[in-house]
Amino acid sequence: MTTTEFGYNSKIEGDVVFTQLDAALAWFRENSLWPMPMGLACCAIELMASGASRFDIARFGSEVMRFSPRQSDVMIVAGTVTYKMAGALKRIYDQMAEPKWVIAMGACASTGGMYRSYAVLQGVDSIVPVDVYIAGCPPRPEALLDGLMKLQKKVSRQPVVKDLMITSALRGAPKTPTGVVVGQAPAVTHA
Ligand code: SF4
Repeated sequence: MTTTEFGYNSKIEGDVVFTQLDAALAWFRENSLWPMPMGLACCAIELMASGASRFDIARFGSEVMRFSPRQSDVMIVAGTVTYKMAGALKRIYDQMAEPKWVIAMGACASTGGMYRSYAVLQGVDSIVPVDVYIAGCPPRPEALLDGLMKLQKKVSRQPVVKDLMITSALRGAPKTPTGVVVGQAPAVTHA
């Protein structure tokens, strides 16, 4: 064994990276944000176009559009949210696993757009927490990619290990009887 094996070896320079666990996990997360495509109107066409080769959303690790909320990380609300759809949208958001994010794509999803109507929700942020708003009617795929990059920046700043520790601590916490028993069945008596 030579002493050089313990010292600096320029031949392996570039193969070894030192970082913090939090930074590595955040990097994995931000580059694999799988969308839940909530296409509700015309903006959805631009959302679809972002997956085409001209724009190539795969460059950002987000080409895997999951139509299952349990496999999605970011809900992209693309289009007009009517009150009729709002309940379904909220239910799908609730079914997505933590951590999860939301992008409001376009004027309609962000504010109701030009529809000042009794049938249209005036901004999807009244039912789900929105992380990134994208302006435009419709926004171009480049604008969506810009919004995605902004979300990636936000995700990169979120602590991962601390959150996981808090979640596991909560899971391991002794269960306190918080439930309320309503309508307890009366004791059965036999004559
Ligand atoms: S913002 Fe414009 S393009 Fe997008 S859903 Fe509304 S009307 Fe259609």
